[in-house]
Amino acid sequence: MRLYNTLTRRKEEFRPIRAGRVGLYTCGPTVYSAAHIGNLRTYIFEDVLERTLAFEGYRVTRAMNITDVGHLTSDADAGEDKLEKGARNEGRSVWDIAAFYTKTFFEDCAALNIRKPRLVKPATDCIPEQIAIITRLFKNGYAYETPTAVYFDVSKSKNYTVLSREKLEGKETAVRTEVIEDRSKRTPRDFVLWFKLVGHFKNHVMRWPSPWGEGFPGWHIECSAISSSLLGQPFDIHTGGIDLISVHHTNEIAQSEGAFGKPLAHYWMHGEFLIIDRARMGKSQGNFITLQTLREKGVDPLAYRYLTLTAHYRSPLKFTWESLAAAEIAYRKLLGKIQFVATGFHGGQPKTRSASGARALIVKFEEGFKAALANDLNAPRALASLHTLVNGLLALQTRGMYTSSDARLFLTAIKKADSVLGLNLTAAAKIPAAVVKRVEKRELSRARKQFTHADALRQEIRALGYEVDDTPLGSFIRKS
Ligand code: AMP
Ligand code: ZN
Repeated sequence: MRLYNTLTRRKEEFRPIRAGRVGLYTCGPTVYSAAHIGNLRTYIFEDVLERTLAFEGYRVTRAMNITDVGHLTSDADAGEDKLEKGARNEGRSVWDIAAFYTKTFFEDCAALNIRKPRLVKPATDCIPEQIAIITRLFKNGYAYETPTAVYFDVSKSKNYTVLSREKLEGKETAVRTEVIEDRSKRTPRDFVLWFKLVGHFKNHVMRWPSPWGEGFPGWHIECSAISSSLLGQPFDIHTGGIDLISVHHTNEIAQSEGAFGKPLAHYWMHGEFLIIDRARMGKSQGNFITLQTLREKGVDPLAYRYLTLTAHYRSPLKFTWESLAAAEIAYRKLLGKIQFVATGFHGGQPKTRSASGARALIVKFEEGFKAALANDLNAPRALASLHTLVNGLLALQTRGMYTSSDARLFLTAIKKADSVLGLNLTAAAKIPAAVVKRVEKRELSRARKQFTHADALRQEIRALGYEVDDTPLGSFIRKS
């Protein structure tokens, strides 16, 4: 399969480090408030990536951090710790806030069918690992200490802007305006590895002992520590939203490669923004919508997942309530059609020739669907091929050219597709095998004009909680 690698700015053939296996790392949420649907767009893209890799036959080991300490209100080490600020605003302890929003994050993910990564680790659970990396950075000459903090010396990093391709000079002036006052800092672009409990961090609640005194880790070091301890280094794919490229991922690479002397990850993949009113949806922008708001408006979370799948992950997606409503209608229609196609068929032989029509459509769909995803996760194209299939089969069904074995084949194909799309496509179409078998037998009996036998089978189907409707389009099964 081909994936777009931000590192090379090209689509590349994906070649894993170990045959058949993939190590995948995702930057997790900062748990000081609920995730917004922009954040969740990125987690859906990453979920589709993991599911596609599994669909392609890889065994995926996915790790994710939970940022529960050290992420300041500016990504460039300035301002307050987001968690401590959240705790103060809500009058709760930082530990409460972190536990609460971690829980709501995974509830939102579950509602969106985003699979929980196999390995999840909060930053506060791996302080020794972070201290170990900082110690390595000292040993390798990348770190220095001032009375305020421990910094990463960016001038020592040979390839600091390899991912962002930004000019370092521009970065320096951009950072200078926001950085906390520390006169001993060598250059403004150096970033914090460890904060000491001085100045406005004197009363920081989350604190740990370290070789540099009590304090807490900077934001970026947690991902270097968690990824290397859970996946080793290098691992295959590192993901996040595009806003992480220029600071967070740039710093992760500098730290990990400085500490271990080898690449952090081979492929870097970034999801584009969800846009609202022409601006990026953001927690600090105050223009955000949460999944809870969608629920309160009666929107099925999976309609939002469907909406995000209609855009490629590398294209910005404009959110409007109208587009969400349209997505929900399209999603419902699709489910309805799938149910129709999966549960209505003619028994025995099709009424007209060209029996292989449905089969050919299904095979073509399977090829198109797989090819779309293998081409840098083209979910919109994959969805389009699903619509083409369903509409094609509906047309065959109307013409009496659709049998129960086609329906079975269709359901298998849809189940496989849904292992990637995660849209509960077969939930409405799931009929117990015992029922399907009896409906098929009954169709055959009717065709042979054995009506007593057909009626007996109808009773058996009823006893299993289902009804069969005989229509000119075939038998349709529904729950009684
Ligand atoms: P955070 O919880 O702020 O650390 O962000 C979690 C994830 O959401 C990161 O991968 C961000 O890059 C991503 N993200 C932030 N804002 C947006 C947005 N408007 N659209 C899509 N992804 C976003
Ligand atoms: Zn990260």
